[in-house]
Amino acid sequence: MASILIRGGRVIDPASGTDDTLDVLIEGDRITRIAKGIESLDGQVIDASGLIVSPGLIDPHVHLREPGQEHKETIQTGSQAAVAGGFTTVCCMPNTAPTLDSPEIVRFVYDRARDAACRVYPVAAGTVGRQGEQMTEIQLLAQAGAIGISDDGDVIVSAGMMKSVLTATASAGLCFMQHCQEPTLTRNASMHAGGVSTRLGLGGWPRVAEELIIERDVRLVGETGCRYHVQHLSCAGSVDLIRAARGRGLPVTAEASPHHLLLTEEACLGYDTNTKMNPPLREHSDIEAIKQGVADGTITILATDHAPHAPDEKALPFNEAPFGIIGLETALAGYAQALVEPGNIDWPKLIELITVNPAKLCNLDRDHLGEEGLGELREGGLADVTLIDPNLEWTVTKADLEGLSCNTPFLGRSFSARPVMTVVGGQIRHSRLESHAAVYTH
Ligand SMILES: [Zn+2]
Repeated sequence: MASILIRGGRVIDPASGTDDTLDVLIEGDRITRIAKGIESLDGQVIDASGLIVSPGLIDPHVHLREPGQEHKETIQTGSQAAVAGGFTTVCCMPNTAPTLDSPEIVRFVYDRARDAACRVYPVAAGTVGRQGEQMTEIQLLAQAGAIGISDDGDVIVSAGMMKSVLTATASAGLCFMQHCQEPTLTRNASMHAGGVSTRLGLGGWPRVAEELIIERDVRLVGETGCRYHVQHLSCAGSVDLIRAARGRGLPVTAEASPHHLLLTEEACLGYDTNTKMNPPLREHSDIEAIKQGVADGTITILATDHAPHAPDEKALPFNEAPFGIIGLETALAGYAQALVEPGNIDWPKLIELITVNPAKLCNLDRDHLGEEGLGELREGGLADVTLIDPNLEWTVTKADLEGLSCNTPFLGRSFSARPVMTVVGGQIRHSRLESHAAVYTH
C-alpha cells in the first residue's frame, strides 16, 4: 500500500485540540498513525519541519459555474484552483444554468466531481430556479446529496416563502445559507453606499439592506428552529445582529470572506471591476468589526465566495460588470494576513474556522454518502491533509491562479503564508515542496 510519512510538522487539529510536533502516517486513503517518532517504512517521507500540518481545508461557499457557464470555470478547473489553495473540499452554490434545484442536477454535480482534484459537494436551491416563488423538494434534494440549501446570488425575498423553506430545510436536517440583500434597497447598486460611491457617481448598496434581512431571518429562525447561516457578511451592524442571535441561543452562524477582511471601498477608486463584489467592500470600521467578530467567536466560518468571471465580462464599465472575484488560490494567505499576522487570532483558531466548523455546517463531520468525518486529523480517518508554510513570502501572479478565471484584486499583492501541499484521500493533489520528490525513498 502506498504510504506517505509527514515528519516533524506542527500538527494542528482543532477538533481534538491537538497542537504539537508530531508525525502523520498515511497509508492508502487513511491516516493510520499520528505520533512522535514514527519509523518510515517503504514510501514517501515529507520533511514538514517549520510547516503546519492541518486537516484538509474546507470552503463552504464557491461558485464552480458548471453546468451552464463553463467558459468561466468547471467543476474540474475549480477543483484545481481549490487544491492549489490548500482546499480538499469545496461546497458549490446552486446559481448555475440550470439551477441546482432538482435531485437529477444534484446527482449530475456528483457525477462530474468524480474526477475532480478535491471533494465537491453541492448546495441546492430552496426555490425553483432561485425565483423565490415555488419551493424545491428539499427532502429529495437532501437525499440526492445536497449538503445545504441556498438561493445564493439572490435572497429569498418573501418572508412567507422563507419561513416555508426554513421549515423544510430543518426537517431535512440541513442548514440554510442566506445571501442577505433586500433587493428594493439595492437597485442599480454597484458598490458600498458611501463617500466613494458619491464621488464615483455609482449606485450605492447600503448596509441596511444586509441588516434588514438578517433581522427578519433571525425572527424566522426563532419560529422554525432551522440552522441558519449568513453568507459573506460585510458590515459591522450584521456582526452585532449575529452576536445577539447567538447570545440568545439561536442556531445562527456567519461567514466572512477574504476581501471583506482586507479591502475597503477605496479599492474601487480606480473603477477596477475586480473590486466589484456583492455584498460590496465597505469601510475600515466594518473590517475591524468583522475581525472582532471572528476573534470573539461570533463569526465561526471563513469562506471565499470564489466567483469566476471571464475577462470580457469584467472589462465592462463598473456599473455593468458582474459582481464577484475568485478566491481559492489566495484565501489562506489572505486569512493569515488579515487575522493571524495582526494578532486577532492564532493559527489553531484560524484552522478551526476553515476545517471543522465548515464541516459541521454542511454535515460533513459525520458519515455522508459513504464518506466519513471530514475536517479533522484522526487515526483511521480519511487522509485529507494540508501542509501550510506560515512563513513563506510570495507575491500573487497570474501563474499562481490555477482555475479558469483570473478576476482578482490581489494580483501583485504580497503575502507571508501559503499552503505548500494538499493531500486528498491519501493522494498528493498539489505540491510546492521541491524537496518532496527528492526524499522519496521507495
Ligand atoms: Zn452571495
